[in-house]
Amino acid sequence: MAGRERSVEEMVVGRPQQMTSKCRHCGSVLEASFCNLGTSPFANSLIEPQEVSPAEKHYPLELFLCSNCLLVQLDAFEPPDAIFSNYSYFSSYSDSWVAHARRYVEKICSAYKFDQNSQVVEIASNDGYLLKEFVARKIPALGIEPAVNVAKVAQEAGVPTINRFFGSALAKELVGQGLGADLIIANNVLAHVPELNDFVGGFKILLKPQGVLTIEFPHLLRLMEGVQFDTVYHEHFSYFSFLAAEKLMASHDLQIFDVERLETHGGSLRLYVTHRENAVSKGPGVISLREEELSAGLLGIDGYRKFPEMVRNVRRKLLRFLLDAEENGKVVVGYGAPAKAVTLLSYCGVGADLLHFTVDRSPHKQGRLLPGSRLPICEPDRIREVKPDYILIFPWNIKDEIIDQLSYARSWGAKFVVPIPEVKIIP
Ligand SMILES: [Zn+2]
Repeated sequence: MAGRERSVEEMVVGRPQQMTSKCRHCGSVLEASFCNLGTSPFANSLIEPQEVSPAEKHYPLELFLCSNCLLVQLDAFEPPDAIFSNYSYFSSYSDSWVAHARRYVEKICSAYKFDQNSQVVEIASNDGYLLKEFVARKIPALGIEPAVNVAKVAQEAGVPTINRFFGSALAKELVGQGLGADLIIANNVLAHVPELNDFVGGFKILLKPQGVLTIEFPHLLRLMEGVQFDTVYHEHFSYFSFLAAEKLMASHDLQIFDVERLETHGGSLRLYVTHRENAVSKGPGVISLREEELSAGLLGIDGYRKFPEMVRNVRRKLLRFLLDAEENGKVVVGYGAPAKAVTLLSYCGVGADLLHFTVDRSPHKQGRLLPGSRLPICEPDRIREVKPDYILIFPWNIKDEIIDQLSYARSWGAKFVVPIPEVKIIP
């Protein structure tokens, strides 16, 4: 399932001419393959048991590095309409994410003194979990959310929400209606945008002259250090280093004046951005992050070379573990059904023969199958019934929370397993 392996030389030199495509930011030809994960089905398209098709569609999952603007990206993607048509992620369901949003609102409001004359706009505002906090403070807030069902939940909760994709055209319309933004918030959306320049161009248009834009995204350097290749999936088009984000903003006459490191999503960055024309002093994080990435070699190709071997190492160790467990008559089950599980299992070629099933707390997922591996997704109680020897945790970013929830499994001696940065068994 993982596709043909290629030599390091081949990866660095490039691929056959007829396959070349262009960088979604700067238009340069993408020559350097950063990591080839073979092919995989769409990670969020869970399968109904009665709809299992003998021929499931798989799509290439290969990352390229643009040697000009340093953007790491997938070159093949499905138009967003097809991908987002059945969107079932509601931010309000995640307690830790809601708490993260609340801390952000407190911090930004005390730093910038927004009031009833300010305008806050959040792009990809989901179910309004974050904007609710501004509405409660009587600060005018507007959400922009393309998923119909999710936008509806926000509107019902009293958060004004436009049900559209964001881009330059919508930004112009809003400004034409006198609705410029003092604060634009874009959390975990930049990576999912196919038309990156049109999107960032929209920030430039919508932001008032003295306005502030904050952007959160998973940090490429943390992804590489943590071998978080399972965060690569088809809805996730771009993977940003700080250096790449700086270049992207600069090309739209925006400047990053401060940055924070966050623990969310395995290690994220929060950028503070304003118009290039504004004289602002740069926060210490800007210089330290730039230096860290330069010393990691992210400005050239060298810093990226080690990653594919680290990824293959995870596969070797995971397969070895699962095969040994099978040989010794041990039962291994999964925990969680995130997109990460689909990429991990597809790349490693693991199916329901080695991992009996997985469980998930979300009723939307229970009773369905993971795409690719076709692992059944059961209710968490199934773990009590089966009493497995090992529980493989797919959402490793919340592993402590999960181990806590499953502490009862220790009563029969179950052990927890985390797949990355390399397989680790937690007794
Ligand atoms: Zn580029």
